[in-house]
Amino acid sequence: MNSVIISCSSCGKKNRIPAKKQHLRPQCGHCKAPINMTNQAVPVELGDQDFHDFVKQAPLPIMVDFFSPTCGPCQMMLPIVNAMAREHINKFIIAKVDTSKNNQIALFFNIRGVPSFMFFKDGNLIDQISGAVSQNVLEQKLRSL
Ligand SMILES: [Zn+2]
Repeated sequence: MNSVIISCSSCGKKNRIPAKKQHLRPQCGHCKAPINMTNQAVPVELGDQDFHDFVKQAPLPIMVDFFSPTCGPCQMMLPIVNAMAREHINKFIIAKVDTSKNNQIALFFNIRGVPSFMFFKDGNLIDQISGAVSQNVLEQKLRSL
């Protein structure tokens, strides 16, 4: 499970926030001040073991980036996906799955090429896009959920 280290804006102490809990309005472990995740959040890394449980329980719409580390277009999309995670922390959850390590989930969704983007709401797959696209196209899909 990936996480992000954030300095508390109130007491300055460093907090390790699990990526899966970023959208749950985390508090500082030292002074209990709320931690502002805007512009600090990272994509949630999901895999074969935890994908379905996370998507089922998520309180916000989710965009999942299915990628492979050796794919050029996936590398091009990486800064866009990272930016969307930072910008939309309290509205949407941005997640990613490394298909080279998680072939069960890639098979489950019949993913033939990467990058592929899937959009979930209330645990259901609503829409998908294959191939590299602009941030604007992904944003429009998210907003339509
Ligand atoms: Zn603090």
